[in-house]
Amino acid sequence: MRSVCEAAPQLAGMQPYDPKYLPAEAFLSANENPHDVETEIRREIMNTMRRVPLNRYPDPLANDLRDMIAEANGLDRDQVLVGNGGDELLFDLALAWGGPGRTFLNLPPTFSVYESNARLTNTAVVDVPRTSDYRIDEEAVLERVGQGGIDYLIVTSPNNPTGELADELFVVNLLEATDALVMVDEAYFEFSRSTMRPYLQQHKNLVILRTFSKAFSLAGVRMGYILGDAEVIREFVKVRQPYSVDAISQAVAQVVYSHRASFEPGIRAIIEERARVVDGLKRIPGVRSYPSDANYVLLHVENAAIIWEMLYGRGILVRDFSRAPYLDNCLRVSIGTPEENDAFLRALRDAVMGKCDLPSSLT
Ligand SMILES: *Cc1c(COP(=O)(O)O)cnc(C)c1O
Repeated sequence: MRSVCEAAPQLAGMQPYDPKYLPAEAFLSANENPHDVETEIRREIMNTMRRVPLNRYPDPLANDLRDMIAEANGLDRDQVLVGNGGDELLFDLALAWGGPGRTFLNLPPTFSVYESNARLTNTAVVDVPRTSDYRIDEEAVLERVGQGGIDYLIVTSPNNPTGELADELFVVNLLEATDALVMVDEAYFEFSRSTMRPYLQQHKNLVILRTFSKAFSLAGVRMGYILGDAEVIREFVKVRQPYSVDAISQAVAQVVYSHRASFEPGIRAIIEERARVVDGLKRIPGVRSYPSDANYVLLHVENAAIIWEMLYGRGILVRDFSRAPYLDNCLRVSIGTPEENDAFLRALRDAVMGKCDLPSSLT
């Protein structure tokens, strides 16, 4: 055969996810922790590695890690599930609660992976866009779920890329207004210090998503988890890839999780730096920044695509959302080390004041 029939129709017109990683001196585009896992913990990881059997399949459900996460959250093992990054669990959500004839309620602008997963699984997508300052249009959401027919929705808190927390009372009202599964994506929970965990017991339709990729410096390892009702978790187990979380990742995550308290000073430093970056942005004319409870800040600036190029010309990679729906002229900058943040603020000021060379692509 020298030809192949077409791929599934839902793929037509879809673009593969592209994080637009480019080599840079200051990597402020992916919301990672700027510091890698510290030497002592790394040494412990290496020692553990020596004992990981490589010829055997891993424990499919990673029960040792599951137990640690359950205990830390005051839950039982069957109320926790780990995945190959939070991303795998987001896909599992679409597999388990979406599908043909089913509907996902999206709150754009938000994490674009949600909508892709819905489309991949032939799930209908209903949008309730955020307000012009990126707050959830609470009334419109409650009204829409009240009409029925929604199978699942995702409330990102803090929202990515816009940065603000969802109001706790709103989420409680939402949980009571619908029997749709409500995932609260708390990928940045360690920075916001705000969680819906206390509501798990009363609300069977609540599931919480977290990740090791941001605060815990493990974006390279791929580890995420959900907390929820045991029956909800069981549905996720049905759709997941049996061995998606490999033995190495399980071992690394266990060591890191057992040392999670040692990440606290680093998290606090990032929160302090965030305030400093927001303050610095306020002093640059023509730049508007949005409040953030996460480890990144969204900003609005005229000619954002050109500003992005100028920053990149100075070795600083931020995330360009300037052509994304609802995010006209927006850039997102992750909070890095103090030196990286200073370099970013300096370069942005120069770019806005016209003191940066135009990128060669535009001359
Ligand atoms: C980073 C992120 C995740 C999960 O990322 P993983 O690296 O796959 O664990 C989930 N939701 C949001 C909003 C994120 O920003």
